[in-house]
Amino acid sequence: MLAATPHPECFNLRRQQVLAWMHSQGGGIAIVPTAPERTRNRDNHHSYRHDSDFYYLSGFSEAQAWLVLIAGDTDQSILFCEDKNPEVEIWTGVRWGPASAADHFGFNQAHALEDLNTRVTDLLIGQRNLFSTLSRPAHPELLKQLNDWLTAARASVRDTRALPQQWHDLSEVLAELRLLKDASELATMRAAAKISAQGHVLAMQAARPGCHEYELEAELLYHFRKHGAQSVAYDSIVASGANACVLHHRAGNSVLQDGELVLIDAGCELDGYASDITRTFPANGRFSGPQRALYDLVLAAQLAASEKTSPQYHFNVGHEAAVNVLTQGLLDEGLLQGTLEQALETAAYRRFYMHRTGHWLGMDVHDVGSYRSPPASDQDRPWRQLRAGMVLTIEPGLYVRPAPDIAEKFWNIGIRIEDDAVVTETGCELISRGVPVAPDEIEALMRSRS
Ligand code: ZN
Ligand code: MG
Repeated sequence: MLAATPHPECFNLRRQQVLAWMHSQGGGIAIVPTAPERTRNRDNHHSYRHDSDFYYLSGFSEAQAWLVLIAGDTDQSILFCEDKNPEVEIWTGVRWGPASAADHFGFNQAHALEDLNTRVTDLLIGQRNLFSTLSRPAHPELLKQLNDWLTAARASVRDTRALPQQWHDLSEVLAELRLLKDASELATMRAAAKISAQGHVLAMQAARPGCHEYELEAELLYHFRKHGAQSVAYDSIVASGANACVLHHRAGNSVLQDGELVLIDAGCELDGYASDITRTFPANGRFSGPQRALYDLVLAAQLAASEKTSPQYHFNVGHEAAVNVLTQGLLDEGLLQGTLEQALETAAYRRFYMHRTGHWLGMDVHDVGSYRSPPASDQDRPWRQLRAGMVLTIEPGLYVRPAPDIAEKFWNIGIRIEDDAVVTETGCELISRGVPVAPDEIEALMRSRS
């Protein structure tokens, strides 16, 4: 459950936007579940995280809830949630209950979960269209549930034409809405990025040869929770030495070695919004010559990409800019041979840079939204033009695995630099720069370790 619920009226506005779209499709009923609780191991659950689509429309973060929207003569938004139960609440915590939830979140109605089956069955009757998050179902039983409700409704009507004849996916519409962040979302994301950046500062200051990856993870987790973040946005990557060349290496037992780099990719989730930051720094506080050369190259690639992160450009221009800088640098360092033109044409850089330069960021760390212009049905769509209010990461990297044709001084160097960018009217703003990125500043910060 979230500590605070921001601006109930903004959730109402989003429901109205979805209802307006439902009307444009002929009206009908939308049924949207939140995520179920998930077992971790016997009698023990993973800490609960609501579904992002559901939360986007409701602001409601308890488990076991369903949202129903009716686009009809009068629009309705109806919440189903767990009823108040003082005895159970002693064990599991205070629930909103339908009455308070309707009041606080501005639903037209709210009902206890026990009434879900009968009420939804009734509500289906007379609706022409059924809408749901079909291509991104939060609940594994969603399709079965919808079919069960339709079957039950069929048994109680004489003419099945009184039931929805058409199914529509809400997922893409929600993705389009979620792609543009409003002012309250941006404020939360700025706050999340600030907490995460400071966590990275503390981890850099705690790092020294001989300490374990998990100790740096602990610094991050401590700071995130200490400042009110409910969770990490994703499991923290703390990768020392050769581990940095494993893209999704979880913080483990490895010991930081003198002369090696440490790559940390970690971000907190605050009030349902993710942050996602990567920094790479020397375990002993001083970059070696080859480390510094590749680091400068990745930083130049990030700068080139951020200069192309603007409503003037489409999504992929930043990636192309980063690839150009990295490829030229790899040629200059002797890691690639030939001309820039040849190397770009063969995508030779992929041996050292095998991921993309960014992804949407929002409630989900890899947030929803197509990278191509809508509609999703068209396969050969052009890249999406960036717009003010979109948020994405900018995260070039280089990963050099040992190989006979590679100069040994570069072996096992893995570097990624990742910041979170809000697209503005004229360019972008990096909201995660509360942790230094310039190599001299990183070294200065690490010299200040106690
Ligand atoms: Zn990322
Ligand atoms: Mg990341």
